[in-house]
Amino acid sequence: MAEKAEQQSYLELLRKAKKELPQPTSSGERWEIPKVDLMTEGRATVVRNFEEILQKVRRDAAHLTTFMLRELGTAGDYENGRLTFQGNPAPKTVQERLNDYCRTYVICSECGRPDTHLEKDERTTVLKCEACGAHKPIQARRARAAPKPEPMVKEGKVIEVLIQDVSQRGDGVAKMEGYTIFVPGGRKGAQVKIMIEKISGNVAFSKIQP
Ligand SMILES: [Zn+2]
Repeated sequence: MAEKAEQQSYLELLRKAKKELPQPTSSGERWEIPKVDLMTEGRATVVRNFEEILQKVRRDAAHLTTFMLRELGTAGDYENGRLTFQGNPAPKTVQERLNDYCRTYVICSECGRPDTHLEKDERTTVLKCEACGAHKPIQARRARAAPKPEPMVKEGKVIEVLIQDVSQRGDGVAKMEGYTIFVPGGRKGAQVKIMIEKISGNVAFSKIQP
């Protein structure tokens, strides 16, 4: 009799322990980053299985949408389970952005499992792993650096400038990119095409082009 009661309380304990354990969401099978299913609609691209992707990564639609649009550098909308955005990037590029998202916001860096969720406190977002208990603050992602524009003021380059002033010697003076550009023959107020001949410090010498 006592033995039975003991057994029962053991089962009870077991049941209780099981209930308190974090529930793994995937059934032990290997989790893979979902593959994007794209369709071109004129100059726009549609991620047809966006809903499915959201379910798989278990993240907020707005969060993933914002990330994808920002990383792809485009505009778009999440509607009716599909993500539609402007432009036709290579499918590989779209997939890579989703991979980036999963590596940053879904997959636990400790155990490699996707059974995680995001927790936000005042300043940081923390990725908490339900499988191994790890939590790791997410580094603020820097926006993809825009390609640097070519400098305009460069020896040998032909550019258009506005003559803003005239120097004591009578040369026209233009300003651009922090340079003072001397333009012999340039009249104040004129828009002229010049070739940069020489740069010295923040002063450039130029010649009016025909
Ligand atoms: Zn983990």
